[in-house]
Amino acid sequence: MIDGCDSMNNPKIVIIGAGYGGIMTAVRLQKKLRTSEAEVTLVNKNDYHYQSTALHETSAGTLHHDRTRVNITDVINTDKINFVKDTVVSIQPEEKKVTLENGELSYDYLIIGLGFESATFGIPGLDEHAFAITGINSARLIRQHIEYNFAKYHNEKDKQQSRLNIVVGGAGFTGIEFVGELANRIPELCKEYDIDRSQVRLINVEGAPTIMPGFDPALIEYATNSLEARGVEFVTGAMLKECTPEGIVYEKDGEKHEILTKTLVWAAGVKANSIVEQSGFETNRGKVEVRPDLRTPDYDDVFVVGDCALVMNEEAGRPYPPTAQIAIQQAETAATNLIKLVRGNDELEQFDPVMRGTVASLGHNDAIGEVMGRKLFGWPATVMKKAIDNRYLLKLGGLGLMLKKGKINIFY
Ligand code: FAD
Ligand code: NAD
Repeated sequence: MIDGCDSMNNPKIVIIGAGYGGIMTAVRLQKKLRTSEAEVTLVNKNDYHYQSTALHETSAGTLHHDRTRVNITDVINTDKINFVKDTVVSIQPEEKKVTLENGELSYDYLIIGLGFESATFGIPGLDEHAFAITGINSARLIRQHIEYNFAKYHNEKDKQQSRLNIVVGGAGFTGIEFVGELANRIPELCKEYDIDRSQVRLINVEGAPTIMPGFDPALIEYATNSLEARGVEFVTGAMLKECTPEGIVYEKDGEKHEILTKTLVWAAGVKANSIVEQSGFETNRGKVEVRPDLRTPDYDDVFVVGDCALVMNEEAGRPYPPTAQIAIQQAETAATNLIKLVRGNDELEQFDPVMRGTVASLGHNDAIGEVMGRKLFGWPATVMKKAIDNRYLLKLGGLGLMLKKGKINIFY
């Protein structure tokens, strides 16, 4: 019995995935819904939430992974929300059930927030030999792999240049933010492992004619200059075609080229968690094209938030990009709508995102951005980026969390 009511008859709300969309839905519900109204369960494969938006830093080794993750029970009150640490295997929407590695959950309302996976587009060798920035574990692996190769370099009789060649596939925001961090990290690694900076190559291979395709040209030019000045080599108009244990192959102007490397970090695209498609939901390129109230086309009791959801931007004629910014706003709409449904009101709110802009870091001390129609270069963009991260932590766990995990020192 909770709050004097029979909790057995309360609707069961199950949230799967504690990324931006999932955890913010849970936080909103814990604030706005009484425990006597519904039983809420959050399922996540780890006992922590991580900020994917900082994973490029963790991968490069410029930010410890504990700074990018938050214990779920530090922000979720377990008197109000059940937390289940388990991995979702599949969803059975017809039976209103979720199968976990260690059990099964039934629901009255489900919120899918299982996030993104790396998209490898069937390119040979990527699944086997490339690294991808998809979570804390993969980020730690990239950091350690790069460091191992620096350490190994002087421990071999026949020194291998491929240990010091780092290739990043894709110059979207992830690829650019990652090379920005590495451009700062490499001089530190060189000092630590007695390697001359000129021996290390950091190469970014991008299929489009420019980096950050579609972004503002002046901002692209600034980013290119900033990164090239720190030793990043860009190969644009070049499609990565294959990855082997020895290196990568790309095609440019109809010709194939090889780069010997032990490190390819694939940052050339993301897709929705494949569990969604495998569970039989109607999808569009792996994502559920949700209704304006964020429910799936087929099920009135299933909401989708974050990178698993596809929402068309009618003005632009294309979907909104998969971002934390969108996932957080979707969580607000999903939570509002769940509360309405639980209270018997089926006039649901429509998701109407406010696009505040985009800021991309180019390392800890440089950035670019376009915010509220204004272009930001360098220092103001860096400050803005840190303010965005801090604001999120404030929303998630209050001032205490922001002071503990936030980027308070705006000079570093
Ligand atoms: P995610 O954040 O992907 O979280 C999914 C959660 O589900 C995780 O906790 C995961 O452990 C859990 N999970 C996954 N599978 C299972 C399972 N089977 N069982 C149980 N739990 C599971 N966007 C921005 O707006 N601004 C930025 O600055 C920005 N920077 C980025 C930088 C990088 C390096 C990357 C990679 C992305 C960046 N993005 C940014 C995009 C943003 O991170 C994503 O759009 C966002 O993380 C999507 O949130 P989500 O809620 O869908 O899920
Ligand atoms: P993306 O899809 O935005 O960019 C992938 C890039 O890889 C593209 O430029 C594409 O041309 C290139 N590419 C694809 N196939 C290739 C190939 N075979 N060879 C060479 N290049 C190839 O992916 P992303 O950068 O991972 O971003 C994913 C989402 O996360 C986006 O919505 C992005 O806006 C968001 N994000 C935002 C930020 C930020 O706001 N600071 C940071 C990171 C990611």
